[in-house]
Amino acid sequence: MKKLIIVTLLIMVASCATVKQTTQPAEKRSARAARSHAVLPPEGRSGKPGSEAKAVSAEDSSSVQDRSHPALAAEEDQDHLILATLWFQKSAEMRALFYQCFRNAETALKTNLEMQGRTGINAEVILPETGAVNAEFSGDTERASSGNLQQTGPDKPAAVVLDIDETLLDNSPFQGWQVLEKKSFNNDDWFRWVELARARPLPGAVEFTRYADSLGVEVFYVSNRTVQEMGPTIENMAAWGFVNADSTHMLFKKTTSSKVERRALIEKNYEILLLVGDNLADHSDVYEKRGPDHGFSAVDANRRLFGTKYIVLPNPMYGNWLNDLLRTAQGSTGREKLVNMLESF
Ligand SMILES: [Mg+2]
Repeated sequence: MKKLIIVTLLIMVASCATVKQTTQPAEKRSARAARSHAVLPPEGRSGKPGSEAKAVSAEDSSSVQDRSHPALAAEEDQDHLILATLWFQKSAEMRALFYQCFRNAETALKTNLEMQGRTGINAEVILPETGAVNAEFSGDTERASSGNLQQTGPDKPAAVVLDIDETLLDNSPFQGWQVLEKKSFNNDDWFRWVELARARPLPGAVEFTRYADSLGVEVFYVSNRTVQEMGPTIENMAAWGFVNADSTHMLFKKTTSSKVERRALIEKNYEILLLVGDNLADHSDVYEKRGPDHGFSAVDANRRLFGTKYIVLPNPMYGNWLNDLLRTAQGSTGREKLVNMLESF
């Protein structure tokens, strides 16, 4: 009986996912369009960062936001996102997991501080000018040299590094819009969403940044949003009360999705005690190229770092895990590739 119910549910979900627009009543289509436009404004507003968007270069095919899937670009719709996006938006398990992860992050950060004997001493450490970190990143060498960038040694102040998208900010309304509009990811649409500055904070995210700040730990945001997106991102995050929501603490993508160089820049002045993100590449370059085992052996080899130095948040909607599958799987369509990767019995 239980098996029959599960099979029936699966058939219902599959049926919903394959209904084509042409078979839907006109009023339903228009209602759907109205809902989606409530999320995203029509194209063509003046001064859009999207108008400056460049095509993803061949050498950085991991893409803007790590969510552009060339293998799926030719697909008629984005139905593969339905269940993943609904889980992110509507499951209490998702909320619980985020609270759980950020609670774990707080405990790990406090423990790491105590293990280094740092508790209570950060207030005595002279912090380098945080702006210098970003000044060097942006090529402002004069300002960078004024920021004590060569500070080394065990007394470097502590820092925590956080990703932004699907770690601190919830962009699932954009994913939902893609499904409703049957559109693949593209930079113009993404920039229009970012410019709205309407993303909500994920459960526990704001509180964690405040907690880290209260311990004297410097909070940095290393994101693959582009530098053109910094203004609305600061507006969005400041409105929700994230600490350090300013350009000196945000290291955004300039040329490459890899975050190695940006983390190294922070490490010139700080010791990173904790990294938080929904993509393993947010934590280490080890996970940027995953190989035929999908990165499993690399995760197993570093298992002790998860929950202690690395905090990983759930994101079933997109990420390097999906890019990896689409790059390596056999099939003529994105759906075929994904189905071919399923394990069965
Ligand atoms: Mg992310």
